[in-house]
This record gives sequence, structure tokens and C-alpha cells, in this order.
Amino acid sequence: MMKALLYTGPHTFEYTDVPDPVCEPEDVLIRVRAVGICGSDVHGATGRTGRRLPPLIMGHEAAGVIERVGANVTGLRAGQRVCFDSTVYCNRCEACRTRRFNRCDKRQVLGVSTPQFKRHGAMAERVAVPSWIVFAIPDEMSFVKAALLEPVSIGVHAANRGNIPEGGTVLVIGAGTIGLCVLAAARLKGAGRIIVADIDEFRLETARRLGADVTVNAGTLVSCTGKMPVLRKDETPSPHETPLSHETPVLRETASTLAEAVLDLTEGRGVHTAF
Ligand SMILES: [Zn+2]
Ligand SMILES: [Zn+2]
Repeated sequence: MMKALLYTGPHTFEYTDVPDPVCEPEDVLIRVRAVGICGSDVHGATGRTGRRLPPLIMGHEAAGVIERVGANVTGLRAGQRVCFDSTVYCNRCEACRTRRFNRCDKRQVLGVSTPQFKRHGAMAERVAVPSWIVFAIPDEMSFVKAALLEPVSIGVHAANRGNIPEGGTVLVIGAGTIGLCVLAAARLKGAGRIIVADIDEFRLETARRLGADVTVNAGTLVSCTGKMPVLRKDETPSPHETPLSHETPVLRETASTLAEAVLDLTEGRGVHTAF
């Protein structure tokens, strides 16, 4: 038996004993050392998404140490520090053979249950996953950081797929975890100017701390047209307390949508890519 955080119904979790996961011949049994809480877990816990049918152990962004490897596993060994993909795929179907793992016929997601499947996740002492979704992590990388590699990889993938010319301008709509990862990845890809929009001032402040050049509070924009809703990263967060200076970008009086605000901020050119 092991300890796990078991989701038993809307807004209800029990820290309880559950059976150890079964380690199949192609699986790796991992002792979990860090696990993230995804926004989809938070929504799922309301019981309204249809993707967290109880009882379920959630958790699909995690890192830990290999405790045991299945009989058919090569290239991985007990004691190795690892993280893993959140998508469990069969590695055999045509989609998998052409590396479109997200289209796998037997695709499951760790810590998710739907009418089609239930796959317990990593909010537990141990989790078993197929060896081909496991990645070794460097010794100097903390487990907490390694657990974040799943959302970080989404940001990196988005930035790789987007058109970001060196020095180009990008817009990130939504400054949650994924938006912030896109922001960081877009910067590494060479973006020159990054505009981040959200309706939550705390998130916008975080975006500025992580390097956003300009943030737009789209909520303020709609309700308070023309009241200087655009802030530079070196300004204080509250638009109403910020003294007007020649350095502060100001929206035209009529800017009432995000699109108009972005056009104002880019002299009418718009952005190279919006995420
Ligand atoms: Zn997630
Ligand atoms: Zn497959």
C-alpha cells in the first residue's frame, strides 16, 4: 500500500492508503518527489469537466526517482532521477510510429479519468508509467523544477511552432502558467518585444517580473476606456496611481478592445505572432 491524495468527489480529497501501482514489463515505477497542480486539476476538482471522474489520483506534472524498472525496460535503472510526459501513448499504432503521440489510438493522460479511461497520476508516493515517456533529468536540477518541465515544454513547443523573427513582436493572451512559459520561451527564441494581456493584475505583475515588455489589463481596457490601462514593466501595477510620463505608452481614447490596444502599441502594424 501507499499514501495518495485521492479525489473522491467535487471539492473533496482524501489523503489515504491505496494499493501500489502495478509495474508492467514495459513500465517504470517512480517514487514521486514533486508534483504540480495543473489548472485542469483545479477545474477538474469542481466535478464539472468530465475529465476527473472520481475516485482518481490526479497529477500529471511530476518528477522523482526510479524505484524499479519492468522486465522489458532498457536504458533506465533504479535510482535515476527522472520526469515524464503527461501523455501515455502505446508507442505502436500508426500515429505513434509517425511521432504524433497526441493522436495515439490508446492515448491516456496521467491523473485523468473520462468515461473512456481512468489513469491514476502522481499525487501519490509512487506512479507507474511506460518507459518511453520517461526522461532523465540532470543531477543539479531540483525535483520541483523538473516537475515544471511538462508545462514548460508546452510553452517551448508553442514558441517553436509560432513565427517569431529575431527582434519580432509577439502577443501572449493569458498570463497563467502556460502563458508565462510561452513568454519565457518566446524570449529565448529571440522575440524583441513581448506584450502580455490578462484580466488579472497579479498575473500581469508576474508577467512583468518574468520579462514582459508591456502588459495590457484587458478587463480594465473594456470597462475603463482611455484610462491608461497599458503599463510598462517598470511602472507600478495600478494604472490609476501611475503618474503619466512621456515614457508611459498611452492608449488612444477609443481603444476599447485588446486588438485596438495592440495596434496602438505597435504603430498600427500588429504583432508577428499571437499566442
Ligand atoms: Zn496540465
Ligand atoms: Zn499509439
